[in-house]
Amino acid sequence: MFTYSKTVAREFTADVLVIGGGPAGFGAAVAAARNGASTMLIERNAMLGGMATAGLVGPFMTCYDDDGQEQIVKGIFDELCLRTEARGGAIHPSKVEGMTTYSSYYIRSHRHVTPFQSETLAVVMDEMALEAGVRLLFNVQVCDVVKEEERITGVVAVMKEGLALFRAKTFIDCTGDADVAYFAGVPTWMGDERSGQMQPASLFFEIGNVERGQFVGELEARKEAGQLGIPSHNCWSWSIAQARDNGDWALERDEIGNYEQPVANRWKMNTTRIAGIDATKTEDITRGLIEGRNQVQQVMAFLRKYVPGCQNAELIQVASALGVRETRHIVGKYTLTVEDIMAQKHFDDAICTFGYAVDIHDPQGNGGVFQEVNHYYTIPFRCMVPVDCENLLVAGRSISGSSEAAASYRVMPCCIALGQAAGTAAALALKCGVEAADVDVELLRRTLTSQGAVIKD
Ligand SMILES: Cc1cc2nc3c(=O)[nH]c(=O)nc-3n(C[C@H](O)[C@H](O)[C@H](O)COP(=O)(O)OP(=O)(O)OC[C@H]3O[C@@H](n4cnc5c(N)ncnc54)[C@H](O)[C@@H]3O)c2cc1C
Repeated sequence: MFTYSKTVAREFTADVLVIGGGPAGFGAAVAAARNGASTMLIERNAMLGGMATAGLVGPFMTCYDDDGQEQIVKGIFDELCLRTEARGGAIHPSKVEGMTTYSSYYIRSHRHVTPFQSETLAVVMDEMALEAGVRLLFNVQVCDVVKEEERITGVVAVMKEGLALFRAKTFIDCTGDADVAYFAGVPTWMGDERSGQMQPASLFFEIGNVERGQFVGELEARKEAGQLGIPSHNCWSWSIAQARDNGDWALERDEIGNYEQPVANRWKMNTTRIAGIDATKTEDITRGLIEGRNQVQQVMAFLRKYVPGCQNAELIQVASALGVRETRHIVGKYTLTVEDIMAQKHFDDAICTFGYAVDIHDPQGNGGVFQEVNHYYTIPFRCMVPVDCENLLVAGRSISGSSEAAASYRVMPCCIALGQAAGTAAALALKCGVEAADVDVELLRRTLTSQGAVIKD
């Protein structure tokens, strides 16, 4: 153990400090600023979007109920989709069906996904945040918290110039890993609350120079024959079985998620799988990235050899951020369970609505659980309010919920909606002179719905 003291030369101050600029942090910062709070967002990557950009993850999973009938995530999420579509970088979910190239020929919970191009999305996120008045700082990583009794007074972060202190009245932790809550001493648990196991990581990549007619022709023929869209008959599982027999496929997974983008000849690929990663540990993240990049090379060789239309496929890019599905969950004032989700439990303090399936990737390897929900469910505000810290909210995949529940709400439309609710709560609470945790939830719910959010009771 080495200890030394140092004077932190740079200080920044805001009403609301959002840490992490992924889907949740983007929603939180835009909402806080639009509702009148002086808002700053700090992000360790070089862009907004988190998994959606640095992680190359996409499309946005469904924002409709699980019957595919009604759009139940709107507000800032819908505005982001429309504005990205207007720039040619997305297709609005109302126009996208399941069993297509945009949904990798899945049907369950894959109706009305939103295909997008990560680079355009990042530009639109910048625009929306700056228009709202958010002060953005990239390449800033939080590494500590300064606390007085139960309140955070500042977070310490690493900048190019050295260490800096960021002071605020309210902090919103959108790091995905609940880093700020953890540094502040909020109780958390890792992964599954019983076993501690976490869903595996994946590294997304994008390919191009695919001969679309051949590639899609084979998939459409299989669809016509009823051989796609059912479990164990996912995209290219038949070729993978052959390649495995030939010693040309050593990956855990027996399918390739291939998602066409709204720009010509670009596909997002979801197939690598790296188990046993604790993504709150730098050594594990490094191991995951190296292993993921090796798996991408294997998949490229497989595509060129076995998949029609891919003989000359090119690797366009590999994500710079490891795709992390699960790490810490905070202990909040309420913990959402999968039973709550399936029973459509009523919450007086519901702040958003969601309907994606409970999608558990096996922590050990192939397969998992995919359970459709009952139309839709809501999430209470208390899941974002940690115990033991007065001026902190947590939004995104690390809110207080069981691992099984998180397997549904962790996807991006819901994270943006959670962020919108947290940012709005923080701004309203400051106006009313109370802590965010004590915000008038009826006022919060009215404000959210007046600003486009959907809260079904
Ligand atoms: C492999 C994989 C496939 C997926 N597929 C889909 C899909 O197809 N569709 C879908 O909708 N969802 C999908 N998801 C889920 C979804 O991408 C994530 O759960 C979602 O992005 C979580 O949003 P978030 O804002 O909570 O966290 P993140 O997107 O992880 O964003 C967190 C942000 O905080 C920043 N950060 C972290 N720590 C710090 C720190 N200490 N200081 C400063 N900044 C920090 C990060 O750099 C990042 O930008 C997938 C996830 C994975 C991993």
